[in-house]
Amino acid sequence: MHKSISEIFQLQKIHSLNLRTTDAAVRKDKLRKLKSIIQSNENLIFEALQKDLRKSEFEAALAEVYFIYAQIDFTISNLSSWMKPRRARATFSSILSRNRIYYEPKGVALVMAPWNYPVQLILSPLVSAIAAGNCVMLKPSEVSASSSALITKIINDHFDEKEVACFEGDVTVSEELLELPFDHIFFTGSTEVGRIVMKAAARHLSTVTLELGGKSPVILAGDADLTKAAEKIAWGKFMNAGQTCIAPDYILVKAEQEEAFVSLICKQIDKLYQSGTRIDKNSYGKIINPRHYQRLTALRDQAISEGAILAKGGEDDEQDLTIAPSVLKGVPKTASIMEKEIFGPLLPVISYTSLDEAINFINQKPKPLALYVFSRSDSTVQEIIKRTSAGGTCINDVVLHISNPHLPFGGVGSSGIGSSHGIFGFKAFSHERGVMFQSGLDFTKLAYPPYGAKGRLLKWLKKII
Ligand code: NAD
Repeated sequence: MHKSISEIFQLQKIHSLNLRTTDAAVRKDKLRKLKSIIQSNENLIFEALQKDLRKSEFEAALAEVYFIYAQIDFTISNLSSWMKPRRARATFSSILSRNRIYYEPKGVALVMAPWNYPVQLILSPLVSAIAAGNCVMLKPSEVSASSSALITKIINDHFDEKEVACFEGDVTVSEELLELPFDHIFFTGSTEVGRIVMKAAARHLSTVTLELGGKSPVILAGDADLTKAAEKIAWGKFMNAGQTCIAPDYILVKAEQEEAFVSLICKQIDKLYQSGTRIDKNSYGKIINPRHYQRLTALRDQAISEGAILAKGGEDDEQDLTIAPSVLKGVPKTASIMEKEIFGPLLPVISYTSLDEAINFINQKPKPLALYVFSRSDSTVQEIIKRTSAGGTCINDVVLHISNPHLPFGGVGSSGIGSSHGIFGFKAFSHERGVMFQSGLDFTKLAYPPYGAKGRLLKWLKKII
């Protein structure tokens, strides 16, 4: 690509007017093309994910590549119906009019992605943006260097830059992109950078979807099936070495059940990630880079110095950036590990005495991206749902809600704005345009001036409104 970022933006701006009129068939063809390009590069994608994150082929397939195939297939099956103008009712003032909501493409969109699921998180918004009829500029994360280089090559080799273009680079490239008057910015990443993106968007009044992070809690109610909870949490927390936005960040467990739960989850970790006396590195990922390795080991050391007990973990390998799954029990609520999103394989377990205490603890923190509840009682579950706020929630499981495209996926408050997946992703890249078709027979004239002789009409209106 030899043109500058702003030259390509200008090309896209012009081309976006052509895309406005594309029908579902044209957009579906583009999605089929995207799928076939990914399919023919599958092995290279697996290799890149192995290099960046030591992602096993199985995890890479399920959580990145097949996830996108499923999203493309779902979008293709539903796009015609999503694109259809929705009926809206008329009201008294336009009683005989026909009213519709049209889904028009926003225009030119920017998609920025993080490094932890570097394939899924750049391609998933792309699928929605194409479905909604937009031109797209993509910015993958420089931190997952191999995956981002590959995605950039794949996209730029197969798409016309006036429609979809991908830009590799560090923060200076992001900053250059953020100078432009995009019609929509879809950002996935940290809350801190989310604020920078929203500030940049405000200059042009670009709309934003912010898919951010946060500390996602798990509440183990007193009646929870602890064995099942330990099984599920050991999987959801330590996949991708804990570098998952919706990974359980910490556990709230009843004080009298803390020991039992810790013992169950430690056993489960062995079952999933241990091979003999060593970590099974075919199934367990690495930390993305030395900076995050240092951050995480320091965070764990500090938690221990603040009174937490290391119930599992410590067999790390700095050479290959492996931090063994670590469980910390007896963690003081004020420990520094409880301040920010952990985003790594450290699991603090905190005890509570009453459900009120657990709920208040969560409510004192910024709203999380996910909140998980394990309980056998529907009334407990409903009480927790009503008294807390979170981007999404999964009951008696973790992480899985992300896989259902019928559910909106997104944060709330500091964990994000807007949502993605399925029709929610399509809507993120569309403007809902209200259109009224006035009929030949209308009573609007009654409201026109002069108003001198309209006293009786006003009295009558007062009565009926
Ligand atoms: P990040 O915010 O550091 O980076 C995300 C993107 O922003 C990258 O493309 C990066 O190049 C760019 N960027 C970084 N600094 C910038 C700056 N100063 N100005 C402009 N652009 C900048 O996030 P990360 O470390 O890559 O990812 C981890 C975070 O992402 C975690 O908080 C995690 O919870 C969150 N996340 C959220 C979701 C979700 O769906 N809600 C998914 C994955 C990750």
